[in-house]
Amino acid sequence: MCKVIAVANQKGGVGKTVTCVNLGIGLAGNDKKVLLIDADPQGSLTISLGCDEPDSLEYSLATAMINIINDESVDVRHGLIHHAEGVDILPGNIELSSLEITLTGVISRETILREYVNKARAYYDYIIIDCMPSLGMMTINALACADSVLIPVQAAYLPVKGLQQLIKTIGRIKRQLNPNLTIEGILITMVDHRTNYAKDIASQIYDVYSSSVNVFPIEIPLSVRVAEISATGSSLYVYDPKGKAAFAYTELIKEVMSHAV
Ligand code: ADP
Ligand code: MG
Repeated sequence: MCKVIAVANQKGGVGKTVTCVNLGIGLAGNDKKVLLIDADPQGSLTISLGCDEPDSLEYSLATAMINIINDESVDVRHGLIHHAEGVDILPGNIELSSLEITLTGVISRETILREYVNKARAYYDYIIIDCMPSLGMMTINALACADSVLIPVQAAYLPVKGLQQLIKTIGRIKRQLNPNLTIEGILITMVDHRTNYAKDIASQIYDVYSSSVNVFPIEIPLSVRVAEISATGSSLYVYDPKGKAAFAYTELIKEVMSHAV
């Protein structure tokens, strides 16, 4: 059985990409077969895993989706980058921006990615989709094909409005496109344990949401080491294995693996 997790929040800079990388590689370290899909035109996931110029790639997520739109057959293993730490990556790049515009005029525009993902399920235990910072057509495609959504929230202030809008969108997609979609959990990231402020925000999020949504008991600490990894092409488990952030992501992985597939 394969579980597809979309990592989404329409706000940028909340730790989506870092979470995809370290969740995915951590799951691979637990002998899971993992595919990471970069659904952000900025290609941050692709770049942070060592591909410096995603825009010059011949094949990417956009190519696969255009092939599906054109009714051409798609080999889901084609164009994947195999990372040394055991995950496969379907890269993303700037072509996703024009694809978003193309999608608006396409039949079944919300479920193009689903066609790819449903085929890829046969080869993986987990497929993790790094969403772009918007609730546009690409993110809707991700939510329409995922089994669950993991929502990183930065502990710098309380973005209740944004979070409510996201949860509302997830509800709408569940009703209209993907009845089995669940919320994997809200993950509080970049927690600066030196300040009470971060603790207050974490407890506010817990108070507001934990009755209706899983809020992970694990918080990801603010760590300069995390900010450094994107330049190294590796995960925290290689770059800073003894650090607090690596420990927190290891705990997150245990929690995710304990959830139903
Ligand atoms: P998003 O994908 O939501 O835009 P990123 O994962 O790219 O967010 O993170 C935004 C920035 O914050 C990046 O520069 C990243 O290196 C940094 N960052 C992410 N998580 C942490 C953390 N726990 N501690 C410190 N910096 C972090
Ligand atoms: Mg990102």
